[in-house]
Order: sequence, then C-alpha cells, then structure tokens
Amino acid sequence: MVDRDRLTELATREQARFRAEHPRSEQAFARGAHLFGRVPMTWMNKTAGAFPLYLNTAHDATVTDIDGRQYDDFALGDTAAMAGHSPAPVVAAVTRRLGELGGATAMMPTEDAEWVGAELTRRFGLTRWSFSLTATDANRWAIRIVRAVTGRPKILVNSYCYHGSVDESLIVVGPDGEGMSREGNVGAPCDVTATSRVAEFNDLDGLERQLAYGDVAAVLMEPALTNVGIVLPEPGYLDGVWDSTRRHGTLLIIDETHTFSAGPGGCCREWDLEPDLVVIGKAIGGGIPAGAYGMSAEFADRALGRADLDLVDMGGVGGTMAGSALSVAAMRATLEHVLTDDAFTTMIALATRYADGISAAFAEHRAPWSVSRLGARTEYRFRPQAPRTGTESHRAADEQLDDFVHLYLANRGVLMTPFQAMALMSPVTTVEQADHCVAVTSEAVGELLA
Ligand code: PMP
Repeated sequence: MVDRDRLTELATREQARFRAEHPRSEQAFARGAHLFGRVPMTWMNKTAGAFPLYLNTAHDATVTDIDGRQYDDFALGDTAAMAGHSPAPVVAAVTRRLGELGGATAMMPTEDAEWVGAELTRRFGLTRWSFSLTATDANRWAIRIVRAVTGRPKILVNSYCYHGSVDESLIVVGPDGEGMSREGNVGAPCDVTATSRVAEFNDLDGLERQLAYGDVAAVLMEPALTNVGIVLPEPGYLDGVWDSTRRHGTLLIIDETHTFSAGPGGCCREWDLEPDLVVIGKAIGGGIPAGAYGMSAEFADRALGRADLDLVDMGGVGGTMAGSALSVAAMRATLEHVLTDDAFTTMIALATRYADGISAAFAEHRAPWSVSRLGARTEYRFRPQAPRTGTESHRAADEQLDDFVHLYLANRGVLMTPFQAMALMSPVTTVEQADHCVAVTSEAVGELLA
C-alpha cells in the first residue's frame, strides 16, 4: 500500500535536511573515537538519522540539542522521564540529599525508604519491597529469589518480551513451537532453553503446555507487551495466566516498568491483578536511577527464613548503591509529588486526545494502521489490526517506514522513542504539544500517501 519509491525519495529528502540542520551533532558523533560504537551507550546508535542528536537541555517535556533546536519530547527517556524532565520536587529532594544533607551513598538506610515501600504497597498491593538502580537488576534479583525459594530451575517469559538485559529472557518461540535463543543474543552464558521456557502472549494453551513440565519457578511478564509495540491482553487472558500458574505451583512476576503508564498502580491496580511479585523501574526515580521489586509478606518470610541463602553479602542479590539515600529520596519525591493519582488523570486524558487525533489522521489519509493505547502511552503499528502476540508484532516491523516517520517528526521539532512509534505523556506535557505531534504526523502520512 505504501509506494516504496516515494518513501525512499521522501526519506532521502528528510535525511538531507536532518544533516544540514545538525552540524554540531554530526561533528560530536564524528569525534566520538574513544567510545564503543562512538556513543556512551550502544543503543544510542538506534537513530533514524545518520547520527544521534546531542542533548543540551531538557525541562518538562521539552528538549534542546547542541545545534540550538527545540523538540517536544514524547520519547521521555523510553519511560524513564515519564515524570517530565527534572521535575522541581525531585530536583529539590536530590539537591538537598546531595548538597545540604550529603551522604548520597553512605551505606546507611534513610527513613524515606519505608515511606516509598508503603506507597508502593498502596499502589501495587504487595507488602515487602527491595530496591535496585535499574529494572534489569530488579528482574535479575527477583528471578534469583524465586528460583531459590521454589527450587525450580526455569523462568517462563513471552516471545519478544523485553525485561532488560536479563539472560533468562532472551528466548523466543521457534518454528516448532518450542523455545530458542533470540536472534542477536550477545554472549549467552549457556543455551537459553536450559534456563527458560517461552509462550506467546495471549496464548493460554502454549503457556499451559510449558508449565506442565513442572520446572518453572515463575512466569515473568508484562501485563501488556510494550517493547515490540503495544500488545494488549485479550479478555480473560490475564485471568487464565493466573489460573495456570496456580495449577502448576508457579509464581507470577509482573514487570510494570513500562505498563506503569496505565495508572498510579500500573496494570495491577487498573485490572485487579494479583501477582506474587512486582518489578518496576525507570520512571519511579523521576530521572535518578531507581528500581524496585515487591513481594508478599509470606514469600518474603520464606526467603528470609532460608539460612542457606546469603541475602546480606555476596549471594548474588543486591548492589552497593541500590537503595542509596539519593535514589530513595528521588523515588519518594516522584511518587509523593509528581506521578500522583491526579497526575495520571491528566496524562491519560491527554494520551486519549492524542490517540484519537492520530486515529483520525490515519482515517483521513486512508492509512490502514493500528493505534494502541495503554493509559498515558500510545503507539501505532504499520498493519491494519493490532497484533495479538509478540511474534506477530515483531514481524509487522517496518524499519524504513518507522525511520521515515521518526525523521520527519524530528525535523519538525518532535521526538518519538527511537525504538517504536511510541508517544508518552508526562504530567507537564501540554495540549499544544500533543496537538502539534498529531498535526506533524498527519502531514507526514499525507505526503507519503498522497
Ligand atoms: N522491564 C521492562 C518492561 C522494560 O521495558 C525495560 C527497559 N526497556 C526494563 C525492564 C529494563 O530497564 P532498564 O534498562 O532501565 O534496566
């Protein structure tokens, strides 16, 4: 349906404009000789232009680059900046801890931690919390503990999930319906099928078949996939997952790192989920590294009661700066003052307005593409029906089209998350910003499908 010659022609035009308007970013990239892949983190090479844009300032939902250009930021740090960039209460709490009080990493607990634990309990329902600096680590440590407590060796995940750089999660459903290593898996410690099982999202039969082996300690899943485009659960699916795990003595870990967009207590609260553990990261630190995992009191007591598990020193769970005074102060400020219940009401209303606008633009230009929304987060995929599984969504990827849209928007002052056509609303994103994003997207689609 998309004329590829026209797409190539427009993409070439946009590349030339991008290059012409960002000489300082291009030079900074060319100078990056002492960096692995020329960038501070290799994923920063995931960019639709020939080089990444270099950051100058970021406040609220507005970013500027070193060429002096300004952008409405809908990437919001791939959810890490869902609170907006540098929210004032977080800046105040962090500045106070770092400056006036000192002791960012003093190896002593602070009273803020219990406040954060109680607030996460109010939001997500689980009653015992521990902290990390990333969602990846929260997942890793949760996995180790569930394995130890259940005595079972394997973790089950969904095909084309993403839970961070977690060895056990790099598995996909192969052509024969069984698990195999995800393509591109870097330096796996062993064959991933030795540690993991996999089922498609929305496939209860597949899940049941895998859990029947009796060797799965826990299912680790997002309640809606978000890293391969949004894949929403079909009616009854999440209840079915819960039933299946109960039947097979398997624990359920829900990773709310991205699905926190659904509401103040993520999908757990919105959809009345009752997982055994919850993992969260990114946004709860308001820009400062922070992550957490929560469990029930009974489960916590089982783990702590095991004299053979070293949960205090070098047993494989924990990090020196995890739960640091600085990180915990940032979480408290974010949850108490920024990502509040009221803030989610505003964010979700704005995302609804944006999603409706994008759908109307696609209809106007007869673009047969699906739009999915999860609370404050909206994505579109270049296929008529929203995908049902991770594999389906993975196959629907259209990199050329994706890059064109990203570049077209960047050239007109709009940033989307580099990995998907995802737009996230923060509490401080304005109606004007959301409407501008819709208008520019409509213009891009109109030009392409003219
Ligand atoms: N869980 C989910 C659901 C994620 O989307 C991500 C990152 N995209 C992570 C965990 C890992 O987060 P981090 O890279 O901050 O450790």
